[in-house]
Amino acid sequence: MFESTLFWLKNRLFRREAMRLYREALTNQHLNECDLESVNWGKRKKLVTYAYENIPFYREYYDACGFSPLQLQSEKDWVKVPILEKEQVRQGADKLVNPKVSPKYVSFTTTGGSTGTPMKVYRDKRFKLEILGWRAFTWWKVSPGDNTAITHRRVPKGWKAQLKNRLLWWPTKRVYLSASSMSEDQIAQFVHQIIRKKVVWITGYAGALECVADYILMKKQKVSSLRLVWSTSAPLSKSAREKMEQAFGCKVMNQYGSCEVSNIAQQCPYSEHMHINYDFVHVDIVDEHNWPLFDQEGDILVTDLSNYVAPLIRYRLGDRGSFANEKCTCGISLPLMKNVKGRISDMIYTPSGIVVDGNYLTTIFDNYSDTIDQFQVYQDADYSVTVFYRPKMGAEDRIDRVIVMLNETLNRDMKSEVPIVFKQVESIEHDAGKTRYIISKIALAKINNG
Ligand SMILES: [Zn+2]
Repeated sequence: MFESTLFWLKNRLFRREAMRLYREALTNQHLNECDLESVNWGKRKKLVTYAYENIPFYREYYDACGFSPLQLQSEKDWVKVPILEKEQVRQGADKLVNPKVSPKYVSFTTTGGSTGTPMKVYRDKRFKLEILGWRAFTWWKVSPGDNTAITHRRVPKGWKAQLKNRLLWWPTKRVYLSASSMSEDQIAQFVHQIIRKKVVWITGYAGALECVADYILMKKQKVSSLRLVWSTSAPLSKSAREKMEQAFGCKVMNQYGSCEVSNIAQQCPYSEHMHINYDFVHVDIVDEHNWPLFDQEGDILVTDLSNYVAPLIRYRLGDRGSFANEKCTCGISLPLMKNVKGRISDMIYTPSGIVVDGNYLTTIFDNYSDTIDQFQVYQDADYSVTVFYRPKMGAEDRIDRVIVMLNETLNRDMKSEVPIVFKQVESIEHDAGKTRYIISKIALAKINNG
């Protein structure tokens, strides 16, 4: 309580812009559909016009496509805005940067991305993106000022950085675990700190959180202070979710984001779907002809409505997803999208050209979450498929039967064109805390070859 009060006081005193944006976000989520739509549409139009007028890349690209922002009269004109492909950003991220903006507002990170080709991503420092997390916390009745456990690729290292972090966050206690190298000792220490410091919420990559959950269950540790698990950056399988809820003793909030646009949608306690941060991010779902889809799965395009440093407009992220056309009972008007389970790069292919969708592949294990603890489907460059799996403890008597059924399913899906091998393993390798459920060398080769 004291931690939370002081957190808000500090922000009111020293971070006025963040507080202004936060208040705006809290207001927006209760707007009626029509008013929310007009907030989103107004921001989209402003951003497209701004990019066209200030950034030579957008002017040239839009001119070449025969598009002008003046064409944006109503929602139906939105499809006229040319799509920004990943390849365009990968090859020329610098060209997207607004030459008129002060360097003090520009920050950038580099991402490996699912294709392994590094890519530069620019952010607008004027937007305080943590406010979207704060908003979601109000749904879950926790506070950003509560004691926190974080497992991330970057954690404060060395006594200076750690001291600075403690002073900055005091009196809130934050405990860290580096997701890029997790030994059992480090996980043990992390869990010990969570219990001792009465941590209220824990956040991190799904894969890293799963490792911690495994440890807690294996050692039969009791964690009773946690009220929320905030799982980020990777799709969450049903079995991983169930395991986390059991180990941490609380609900898991799923969040969808990417390196380019960190926070796109978040789950509330009342729905299995996620609320799109519709006042700050626009989401389109399109088919293979780039035609908008409203009730089917397709490619996700995002428009970051707050990035004026290097705008991303109708940017094809490489994820597939769909809207959930239903109203959430929580009363928040932000629209819902379904859980994003896989990526375009997570497709399995056969030599004759059959594509087995990663989204679908992930779900074939859903019915066996009581038997299979972890899995990974790996397709090699010669099309052969290996399914690595770790059985649940106590499921030894069921596992053979399940493998036979999964084998049949996969063979049927791939018309028996490729050899499929099931391999039992001790654990599935994490990529810096991110679990990849599907890895396909064939899909990666297709992407890299354009
Ligand atoms: Zn809701």
